[in-house]
Amino acid sequence: MVTEVTCDSCQNISKATFQCNHLNIPVYPIQVFNSPFSKAIVEQLNKTEDLDGLNKYYCERCQKKTCAEIKYCAKSLPEIFIVHIKR
Ligand SMILES: [Zn+2]
Repeated sequence: MVTEVTCDSCQNISKATFQCNHLNIPVYPIQVFNSPFSKAIVEQLNKTEDLDGLNKYYCERCQKKTCAEIKYCAKSLPEIFIVHIKR
C-alpha cells in the first residue's frame, strides 16, 4: 500500500509505502447491489480521508500540525483475495 498525505497549508505531498496482510474495507450493501463488487472495493480503496481535529498531520515542511488529506492506494493486487463478510 502507498499512502499520500497532502498538507492543506503548503500542499506538500508526503508518500509512504508499507506492506499489509489484510485491509478492513467497509462496503455498504447499496454499493454491492448497484455496481460490481470489485468496483465497490476499488472505490473504497481510493477514497480520501481528511486529517483534522485530533487527527491533524504533522507536516515536516510547515513544522507544525496541520489539516491534511490522506489517500490510500493499492500498489499491487494480491494473487489470492479473501472476502470476509460481517453481518
Ligand atoms: Zn505543510
